[in-house]
Amino acid sequence: MAGEQNPLRQLPSVGRLLSGKGGAALATAYGRALAVEGLRNALEAARKNLRDDGDAGPPSDETLTEQAADYLRDLLAPTLRPVINATGVVVHTNLGRAPLSDAAREAIEAVAWGYSTLEYDLEAGARGSRTVHAERTLVRLTGAEAALAVNNNAGAVLLMLTALAKDRGVVISRGQLVEIGGGFRVPDVMAQSGARLVEVGTTNRTHLRDYEVAIDEETALILRAHASNYRIIGFTSQPTLDELVKLGKKRGLRVADDLGSGALLDTAAFGMAHEPTVQESVSAGADVVAFSGDKLLGGPQAGILVGRREVIDTLKRHPLARAIRPDKLALAGLAATLNHYLRGEALAEVPVWRMIAAPVDELRGRAERWASELKGLKAEVVDGVSTVGGGSLPGETLPTALLALKFSSPDKVAASLRAGDPPVIARIEEGRLLFDPRTVLAREEEALLAALKSKIQNPKSKN
Ligand SMILES: *Cc1c(COP(=O)(O)O)cnc(C)c1O
Repeated sequence: MAGEQNPLRQLPSVGRLLSGKGGAALATAYGRALAVEGLRNALEAARKNLRDDGDAGPPSDETLTEQAADYLRDLLAPTLRPVINATGVVVHTNLGRAPLSDAAREAIEAVAWGYSTLEYDLEAGARGSRTVHAERTLVRLTGAEAALAVNNNAGAVLLMLTALAKDRGVVISRGQLVEIGGGFRVPDVMAQSGARLVEVGTTNRTHLRDYEVAIDEETALILRAHASNYRIIGFTSQPTLDELVKLGKKRGLRVADDLGSGALLDTAAFGMAHEPTVQESVSAGADVVAFSGDKLLGGPQAGILVGRREVIDTLKRHPLARAIRPDKLALAGLAATLNHYLRGEALAEVPVWRMIAAPVDELRGRAERWASELKGLKAEVVDGVSTVGGGSLPGETLPTALLALKFSSPDKVAASLRAGDPPVIARIEEGRLLFDPRTVLAREEEALLAALKSKIQNPKSKN
């Protein structure tokens, strides 16, 4: 064990490894400090191995630098990575919601490069306002008097309630006390804002008179929250937004509408239920409407508030607005996304809408082409459904054609697809892996097929 023969003593020093070819390459790629950390880590592991296993010999310098390289690759690997979404859920919150249009991506890149007019007025040569970048377009598209973009819709709702109803009552139907997921619950946001929740009606039925009797001198606001991700069917009723607006006018109260997804186009045109649009809420006379930028709008993460100028001005001036302001990248992407709607090209250019609008024949054609390229697998094309997701249109589906692959252990294959680069996320149903072309971008097809072909050539786990 001891003396010259001790293999622990035969291990190289960090310095020797660093001056070797592999070590020098590590220092170039990762910087000296990280290279040292990686090599120390590899040497520590080698020492442990030699102590644990008396028969082991010392690893070569090459092995040690390779282990250091693995360690450093892992250390610097991004955890936020692109994935191929083959689930057919268009606005998949866990997978980053809306993919962006080319124009949105280019606009983001343009301001990411350097400085920008984020808060600078070129004409005046002086400080400008960050709120101008999306406002004019939002106003045109929605018919509202004014608009304000913030960090996300949860923030938009919090701002709306805090600025308009802190320490006062907010009347809302019990059928609308929605939990969106990710910790957003209307009653909790209400509590956070300092507004007092006044629930009226029952889960399934709320009448206008329920609101009427609940309103008192403490009341500041009538809130409608879109029951984004659930549906109450059967014996149900809710006053319309028009009726709430009328009641608000009569009692001198503002009406706020949390629309959630906030579509600008009609989902009913694609055979689904009608998701309420922003334009409808504005024309019904809501004083302020809140919705997401990255759900059915199809842009980057943002919360959007549109409504009466006097209300939007109050929101803009509130200190909380500063805390939830959007960054330049989101504003650039949002403005470019909104322009697609102005040009009337959203169905073709905004990926979320292009996916929703994709005809089933086109999807079938793509699935069949995939199947024909995967001859070694038991590939079939089957009818199925896609969903919109993102907490909108619960229970509503779009007909689609799916590539179906049969494996004896579909869970294992799904896991290995997730471990690939890029990872592929598929659906498992009845022992089959399903891939929905609706949510797979054209530019991702080659990588998807390559990942699937590797399952043919490499059936080592007999899956
Ligand atoms: C999604 C949603 C929210 C939260 O929006 P984020 O953009 O996720 O912050 C709030 N209210 C409703 C009704 C929603 O559907």
